[in-house]
Amino acid sequence: MTATIIDGNVIANRMREEIAQDAQRFKEQYGYSPGLGVVLAGDNPASQQYVRMKQNACKKAGIESVSHIMTKDSTQAEVEAAVAQLNQDPKIHGILVQLPLPQQVDEESILRQVSLDKDVDGFHPINIGMLGMKGRDPLFTPATPTGCMVLLNEIGATIEGANAVVVGRSNIVGLPMALMLIKANATVTVVHSRTKNMPDILKQADIVIAAIGKPNFIKGHWLKPGSVVIDVGTNRVDDPESEKGYKWVGDVDLESAQNVVSAITKVPGGVGPMTITMLMHNTMKAAWRIEQAKQR
Ligand code: NAP
Repeated sequence: MTATIIDGNVIANRMREEIAQDAQRFKEQYGYSPGLGVVLAGDNPASQQYVRMKQNACKKAGIESVSHIMTKDSTQAEVEAAVAQLNQDPKIHGILVQLPLPQQVDEESILRQVSLDKDVDGFHPINIGMLGMKGRDPLFTPATPTGCMVLLNEIGATIEGANAVVVGRSNIVGLPMALMLIKANATVTVVHSRTKNMPDILKQADIVIAAIGKPNFIKGHWLKPGSVVIDVGTNRVDDPESEKGYKWVGDVDLESAQNVVSAITKVPGGVGPMTITMLMHNTMKAAWRIEQAKQR
């Protein structure tokens, strides 16, 4: 079997065109563009790069962004003040606090202070709590797992009743991913660093979501023939053959997996572009909600 390689760029680009049209409609109706506020504290080059990519994509779609770029020595009070300012700004509809924050800043406390109406990353404890509860729906769900759900739906994967295994249990990917799959009626197993028999568990999985940050860790022979794999992992490895001297690979060993599974995402170009797209989607949702509430 040779797997279908899922190209997130194609799906993301189509969605971004729709988002750009939506942003245009918003501007025509309210006289100004939807707005995203960004808080970036510290000098982590990956975080700086993510923020740049998110802001460029927003700009292209007609979503304005305002940034609070702060040093790695920023205090709790300074980060809180940045969030408070964005909460109060009537032209900001979504707030993105780029994680991780510097060590001296209490991340949970900061995420709690983001207005629920503007929590487009879906990391506010109330939104995460609602995601975990039966019969409740959060206002916003985190961008990366939401992007994974869109990819599964786009390829026509059957989620209801499927055995889904989520590898990794981080607050930003694995945990919300598992909650979203439970809501979609999958039978979900979460695997993490203390799990003893990962290959045996993966062998039962119709759907695998890999989010551990270990290059090529999951081997093809661990996977169930015909399963669907969404590889969130984005790992930089040395590659003397490439001009840059490195390349990006996922958590799943693509070479061995593509002969076993029915579909697997590209890395890069699979989940990554979907993450940014879902942030933009959430920002549009927030913008319409906030403006419509002002009319009432
Ligand atoms: P993280 O916070 O480091 O969490 C990693 C998770 O993997 C933890 O739950 C950890 O288990 C588990 N884990 C680590 N080693 C393992 C092993 N050998 N076997 C089983 N489980 C193991 O990472 P993250 O933020 O979730 O990110 C995961 C990957 O996704 C990274 O490569 C990251 O760059 C990528 N990512 C991509 C996007 C995107 O948009 N494409 C977005 C976010 C993240 P414990 O809980 O037991 O420690």
